[in-house]
This record gives sequence, structure tokens and C-alpha cells, in this order.
Amino acid sequence: MCEWKSAIDQSRGCAVTAEPDSPLCLFHSEQKTIDQVDRFRAALAAKLEAARPSNARLDFRGWDFPATAPLNLGRFRTNGLTMPLDLGETHFHGDLDLSELSLRDVLLENAKIEGAVRLRAALVDGDLVLNGAELKHLSLRSAVIEGDADFTGLKVLDSGDFLGTTFKGVAMFASSRFMNNGAVFTGTKAVGLDLGPDSPSTAWRRSKRSKGIEIAKGERSFWQFALGTYSSLGDRERADAAHFYERSASYADAVVEAKGRSRPAYFRARLDQYIAYCFWNGLIGYGTSVSRALFGWLVAAIGFACLYAALPAVFGRPDPHIFTWANWREALFMSMRVFVKIGTASIATVPPAGQVLLCSYAAASTVLITVFVAVVTRKVMR
Ligand SMILES: [Zn+2]
Repeated sequence: MCEWKSAIDQSRGCAVTAEPDSPLCLFHSEQKTIDQVDRFRAALAAKLEAARPSNARLDFRGWDFPATAPLNLGRFRTNGLTMPLDLGETHFHGDLDLSELSLRDVLLENAKIEGAVRLRAALVDGDLVLNGAELKHLSLRSAVIEGDADFTGLKVLDSGDFLGTTFKGVAMFASSRFMNNGAVFTGTKAVGLDLGPDSPSTAWRRSKRSKGIEIAKGERSFWQFALGTYSSLGDRERADAAHFYERSASYADAVVEAKGRSRPAYFRARLDQYIAYCFWNGLIGYGTSVSRALFGWLVAAIGFACLYAALPAVFGRPDPHIFTWANWREALFMSMRVFVKIGTASIATVPPAGQVLLCSYAAASTVLITVFVAVVTRKVMR
């Protein structure tokens, strides 16, 4: 008997006789001789032929499909498949093409597909489960998924195509990765979008630590899709986060675009990105964190106080005793005074370098106060 056991459900095994010299059967063994591939192909065709009139559940769990014996469901194209298609834990050495088919649930959890998975213009009248799967390319272009779509932990090595895909249920993208050429989400629509259990944070865009989503290229289109979805759900906090990521992705896109033009353009784009990063990431998060804005102000105030206390000469202070309580107390007090714009009339007596520092800090404090007011107002108005 074949010794194959499902890694997800230990009670699921295989009742087929094992091949000679192997603990596994024809369907579960990875290495197949030419003769075995021929027998595999014949058995597969017989199974599909038998399933057609009865439209029985197609269970291929754990099967190993050689590249020369792909799963061809073309015969179901006319009347569709009304029973689930179980391809969980399968290994495809080539592509899996389910394009233009009308299907019931499609289960591909923990599957490993060395080629592409195509569901172009397919209609899935149930759930699409791809969690923990690893594949090279995924195309759901113009597909319609009536149930939920689970991409949790999905790893796409090359690219994903979600152009015009319609998710009529929840699309789950927690811990998913679209590497190398990323993914396109232009015109994608979903009723719900799940990016993991955590509330949105500035680390929502990393798949490993924060169980977010990671897209190597075309990230902006995903956040536009997310923004649209969360906005229509009335989930303002998540919509704000999506908007924030959309903006930071657009800065990254500008850098890539400027790289091809000229060195100064590239430098300016990088600077824009850097300033936006410090400003948005460091100070406001995605526009909802009061504590972050307050923390930004504290860092600036203490930072200036340290400069003021440690470099008395720069600020035209005769006091040479740096390490005294009085010096640090005065520095902190001065920092506060500049921040709230009172008592800075004595600036004329300060040497030029100190004046520059004072003015920069005063200007920065204006920005910090504005940011703080904006964040608080947003919080209150919500
Ligand atoms: Zn088996």
C-alpha cells in the first residue's frame, strides 16, 4: 500500500498499491520512469472520463504531475465543474491551466507548481484556496471568484496578474509574497480584503514580521486596490494605511523611473523619497498616530536641548561648565521657549552658526506643531 500521508490532515492516506521499489504509488511518487508517466497519463484520462458524467469530486491530493502529463480539464469547459477540485499538496512539474473554466471550489493549499497557474477568465463558484502554495506565475486576469480567495502564505516566485479580477468574497493576502516581477492589481475589485490579524502599522508591507504583503514591483496598484476596497467598506483606519502605502510606493516608483533619466533626477527622487519616509514614517505613521507625532516632537525638543547644552560657544553662551544641572536645565528651558516661539529676541547676540541652528529648529517646530494639530484633528473628526 502507498505510504503517502497528508501533511495537513494525518488521517488522509492513499489506498493505491505502491509501485515496486517504492513506498509510494504511481500518483504520489516524484520520480517516474517513462513507462510510469505513460501509465499515469492513462490513469488520469480514465479518472477524468469517469468524473465527467457524474461530475464527481476530483480528488488529486498530494499527486505528483510530471510536466509531460499535465492536468487538462478542457473537457469540462462546456458544462463546468460543479464539484470541488482538490489539488492540495500536489506537485506540478509544469503549468496548471484552468483558464476559461467554470469551476466549483479550487483547493491548491501547500501545492508546489514549478510553472504557472492560470485561471484567466475563469469563474470559481466557490472558494479559491492557495494558502502556503509556491508557484512561479499566477494569472487571475478577468477571473471571477464568487467565494473567498485565500492567498495566505502564498509565494509567487515571478509575478502575479490580477488585472480586472473580481473577488465577490474576501481576498486574503496575509504573509503573501510576489517576488521578482511583483504583481499587477489594476482594475481588481474585492468585497473584503484581509491582510492579517494585526491592525495596520507602518510595517504592514512586510510579509515575514508583520504578516503583511510583499510585492517586488507594481506595489502601488495593490494599495490603490486596497484603498478602494477599504474605502467602500467604510474602514477608515485601513483605508488611511492603504493610502499611506500607495504614496510611499509612488515615491519608490519615481526613484526607479528617474534612475533611467539622469543622475540629478535620480538624486532628487531619492531625496523626495527620503524626506517623505522620515516625515510620514517617522512622524505620522499613516496619519492616525497621536503618540508618534508627540514622540517626534519630544525627540526634536530633547535633541535641540542637547546641542544647546553641549555646544555653549556656538550659541554665544559664556558658561564653560557643560556638565552642570543648571546648564542642562537652561538648555531644556531654551528648547521649550524656541518651540513655543517666545523669548527668542536675543537671537542677535548669538553667533552665525548658532543662529542657523536656532532658526532651523524654530522652523522644524512649526512643522511639528502643524503635524500634531493635523493628526489630533483627524482623530477627533473621525
Ligand atoms: Zn499514493
